[in-house]
Amino acid sequence: MKVKVISILEDNYMYLIIEESTRDAVAVDAAVSKRLLEIIKKEGATLKAILTTHHHWDHARGNEELVKLFPGLEVYGGDHRVGGLTHRVTHNEELKFGSINVRCLLTPGHTLDHVCYFVWEEDSLDAPAAFTGDTLFVGGCGRILEGTAEQMYKSLTEVLGTLPQESKVFCGHEYTARNLKFALKVEPESEMVKDKLAWAKLREDEDLPTVPSTLAEEFLYNPFLRVSEEAVQKFTGKVDPVEVFAALRQAKDSFRKPKERLNPQAVLAFEWGLFEPFLEKK
Ligand SMILES: [Zn+2]
Repeated sequence: MKVKVISILEDNYMYLIIEESTRDAVAVDAAVSKRLLEIIKKEGATLKAILTTHHHWDHARGNEELVKLFPGLEVYGGDHRVGGLTHRVTHNEELKFGSINVRCLLTPGHTLDHVCYFVWEEDSLDAPAAFTGDTLFVGGCGRILEGTAEQMYKSLTEVLGTLPQESKVFCGHEYTARNLKFALKVEPESEMVKDKLAWAKLREDEDLPTVPSTLAEEFLYNPFLRVSEEAVQKFTGKVDPVEVFAALRQAKDSFRKPKERLNPQAVLAFEWGLFEPFLEKK
């Protein structure tokens, strides 16, 4: 299977999973319908379904229009707030699109009904893929907006963390360099973090995506998956895994660039609760 990485909005990712033998395709987080339609046309693909990780507009905004354009198009998600939703999935529910298999994983934390999608192709040597939305990022994790730290911790370690280690991680945002700057603050001695950060900065300079990573890689530099490491415990001053995780998340919430902190527009939008992307970036 081919996974087309599509950069949209300021730093979001939308994906198109294509079954190469038939060109049938499934979109993940179809937030910008026009851009998706362009890619579908360019790839000669046929859109069969949309998988939505969560209801936030920068992940789900294109659904309704796509349903209008393609009557009968199925829209999967875990939340009744997902626009155009036709099928609310349950934990571990499996979907099939030709030879493409999808396992739906409920991963509460960022939102209460956030879903990640584990995707693999039958009789294929391609590594499986995890579409992790705003739960697991390269080098970081999503903000806890609706769930608890314990829920997010479990979503990351027990649900996503137990997937095959070779799984490719396709996340919802390009936050890698920023995440790794924080990771370096947590583990200043880590060569893994230093190397990945240097690479991420190069990618950023060239305006190239840093997805996918692999789950195995994430365990090497993503502090949110490393709560049992001595350096991470030392940084947080905690030992209990959920407490370490909660303290890390809190520290990351206040880890921002001075410029962002002072941007009056962002502050206003934040206070009015109008502009969620600003919220998620901080
Ligand atoms: Zn979100």
